[in-house]
Amino acid sequence: MKRILIENTYIVTMNEKREVYRNGSILIEGDKIVKIGKVDRDSLGENVEIYDGKGKIILPGFVNTHVHLSQQMGRGIADDVDLLTWLRERVWPYESSFDLEDSYISSLACCGEMIKSGVTTFLESGGQYVEGMVRAVAESGMRGCLSKSVMDEGEGLPKTWQKTKEEELQVQKELYDKYNNTHEGRIKIWFGLRTIFNNSDDLIKETKKLADELNTGIHMHVGEIPGENEYVKKKNGLSTVEHLNSLGALGPNLLAVHTVWLTDREIDLFKLYDVKVSHNPGAAMKVVLGFARIPEMLEKGIPVSIGTDGAPSNNRMDMMREIYLTSLIHKGRTLNPKVLPAEKILEMATINGAKCALLDKEIGSLEVGKKADLIVINEKTLHSLPVHDPIGNIVYAMSSENVESTMCNGKWLMKNRVLTFVDENKLMEKLIEQSEKIQKKAGINIPDRFPVINIF
Ligand SMILES: [Zn+2]
Repeated sequence: MKRILIENTYIVTMNEKREVYRNGSILIEGDKIVKIGKVDRDSLGENVEIYDGKGKIILPGFVNTHVHLSQQMGRGIADDVDLLTWLRERVWPYESSFDLEDSYISSLACCGEMIKSGVTTFLESGGQYVEGMVRAVAESGMRGCLSKSVMDEGEGLPKTWQKTKEEELQVQKELYDKYNNTHEGRIKIWFGLRTIFNNSDDLIKETKKLADELNTGIHMHVGEIPGENEYVKKKNGLSTVEHLNSLGALGPNLLAVHTVWLTDREIDLFKLYDVKVSHNPGAAMKVVLGFARIPEMLEKGIPVSIGTDGAPSNNRMDMMREIYLTSLIHKGRTLNPKVLPAEKILEMATINGAKCALLDKEIGSLEVGKKADLIVINEKTLHSLPVHDPIGNIVYAMSSENVESTMCNGKWLMKNRVLTFVDENKLMEKLIEQSEKIQKKAGINIPDRFPVINIF
């Protein structure tokens, strides 16, 4: 079995006691961590890959709890527009022009970008061609909880997406049977519910029933805009979360994304039912959803994690930047410098992310017996030196460039900034070619911002 020893390094375990090792070592055998702390190199014999960790910091791999793999080629198609234009004139035409090959290229590029910012696990919110995502995730070596974008009602839906409840449930069940726990267990299949605008009550109820039976998760956008609560109230007399509660849909396997417009009572309901939350500060500000009450939720003990959302709404699938944003915006909102300190932010990006992925027994912290999902951070860059406070420095000063290497399931997915599973230049060429095709096919026109003078 392959063994890797990372030695003489600063290890941030994120274990129960949040212990940190200075000049520690970590031994990986196969896909697992087998020793941490003091490791006698001489006792290991031959055939051990040695990684010199001097001047480096080892962290659990980040968990990005909300991303749209199939929106990766839609980066820049919907900037500075209102939400309805964003959705109906840009993102829906783009996504509904997709085919299987597009899904694969888009997903592979998205995985590459995430790996470069230290992500080893992600939760996919749902596209149409899950098979394309499965292929990309399998090749990339990442861990992913994938779901299909599910819609059985709603205004303005593209024709190809108009499906019945039965069809949507059937497709997801088939995907689960075929792909759940495949590729060394790295791929999980979840159920998707796009939004309350697009999902019937019956679909929500049956999704919850099936997800419980199959012991898997449900990924849903919840409480994004005030209009969402108004819409649900008009229809059912209740707000989104209270309505989901009346349908019996709240539970530990529900991941609620954005959760910006929640009342105190709704936050209490999340706590009561152990609902998981994905906070996406970049997208929430760019698409002007607002500021989610994250410190209040964490205070109550709700597991809140961090997600990037998709490329047309963020537009960076960069966890290091999202970590930075999360650390800042709540201080600004509450005018309290002590709110969401750096150590809390790292919890959100690692162990809380693992809880949201329903995988905290396997990942999210560096402990003996857990999967070897970790990142190596190089602290020696001008923008991050000096390092008086490593945890504070990671959150407030470092960027993705500091992520030197990324390992998932005991395999290097990036080593010394080079992706190991794909030729990055070729992938970029393919991405440009394919995204131009899609833009034409979808008929999306992006106006020039300045007068353009063509020189032939
Ligand atoms: Zn989303």
